[in-house]
Amino acid sequence: MSFERIQEKLNILADAAKYDVSCSSSGSKRTNKDKGLGNASGMGICHSYTEDGRCVSLLKILLTNYCVFDCAYCVTRKSNDIKRAAFKVQEVVDLTINFYRRNYIEGLFLSSGIFKNADYTMERLVAVARKLRLDENFNGYIHLKSIPGASDELMREAGLYADRLSVNIEIPTKSGLKRLAPDKKREDFIKPMAKVKNEIIKYKAEKKVIKSTPKYAPAGQSTQMIIGASGENDFQIMQTSNHFYKHFNLKRVYYSGYVPISNDERLPQLGSAVPMLRENRLYQTDWLMRFYGFDVSEILNQKHQNLDLDIDPKLSWALRNLHEFPVDINSADKRMLARIPGLGMRSVQKIMNARRFRRLNWEHLKKIGVALNRAQYFIICESNAFERRDLTSEKIKGLILQNSTSKYHNMLSNQLSLFT
Ligand code: SF4
Repeated sequence: MSFERIQEKLNILADAAKYDVSCSSSGSKRTNKDKGLGNASGMGICHSYTEDGRCVSLLKILLTNYCVFDCAYCVTRKSNDIKRAAFKVQEVVDLTINFYRRNYIEGLFLSSGIFKNADYTMERLVAVARKLRLDENFNGYIHLKSIPGASDELMREAGLYADRLSVNIEIPTKSGLKRLAPDKKREDFIKPMAKVKNEIIKYKAEKKVIKSTPKYAPAGQSTQMIIGASGENDFQIMQTSNHFYKHFNLKRVYYSGYVPISNDERLPQLGSAVPMLRENRLYQTDWLMRFYGFDVSEILNQKHQNLDLDIDPKLSWALRNLHEFPVDINSADKRMLARIPGLGMRSVQKIMNARRFRRLNWEHLKKIGVALNRAQYFIICESNAFERRDLTSEKIKGLILQNSTSKYHNMLSNQLSLFT
């Protein structure tokens, strides 16, 4: 196979992989020198986090962009008239090793369109990982996509070689999935996810007894949902996330704003804005659920089905629950401190440590790094002046917005102008 053909495949299959955000994209600036194979700049290098929290750069590619399915939201769908390509198993192995030796990457993120059927495709993904681990003694990071509907045996083997496994739910509701991806069934995602979850539990239990138990997907499993393609509200999206976190022990759910790619009347029109601000608000909500002790129903519910775009979800919750405030910084428990707008979990911990030695005032809080432009309306401390006084939530919101600058400001104005 000529160098040019491999280069061409790499261009096609790295470009097709960029829509999967379950490892976040980034631009590597490393360019080709001395006529070597590969050029990492713009060629699908992404970053991901290992089991121990290290950030690693990965070669992010599809094994093929041929697919027997026709999911309306996907560039790789069979009815799309695009250039197709497929790597052989050995080609992916060689590319990975080559890029690894040149220090372009520390691992591989490998996904695929569906060749023939789920098992036929999954077998090839597993074969790449097996060859890397067993023949090449490759100890870098491997993230494998699980193909919906793949058999238990293949999922078991995949986890023996991969650090992380993921299967994308893609569309947050069953009805949305049926409308946009009629070939797929929710059960096809559930089956491999359940298998991975059970194998991880089994591995952890056996490891306690037998130290040499082979590792199984040590960085866990994740999934991705496309946002804004199928009309779901934020309440439905976060309920789905919550369900998968609880029942399948997911490490992460990724939210990917839909990028319009076709003139299909079931989807937002070509040229519609990618809902990036909404995507960011969903990530913030996800964070509040996982690390700040919020239940999804406190942030989103039948009465409040969509997140505010102009303020973050914690501030939005606080403004709807002013009766919970002011919180006394010097005596409140951790749960309540974590609910104060302007306080991250690191500041919460610093406050809890510092108040063992003194009662805290505004100056102490500033030094700790509390965003007082938001927090001041919700707390009392040793300085005592409570800034909320008898302000309404609307008034507080206005004052906070007046004094804040957000990197999303321009995006918000653009997105809001769509509704005027
Ligand atoms: S099965 Fe996957 S690759 Fe194939 S069309 Fe659907 S989303 Fe795209």
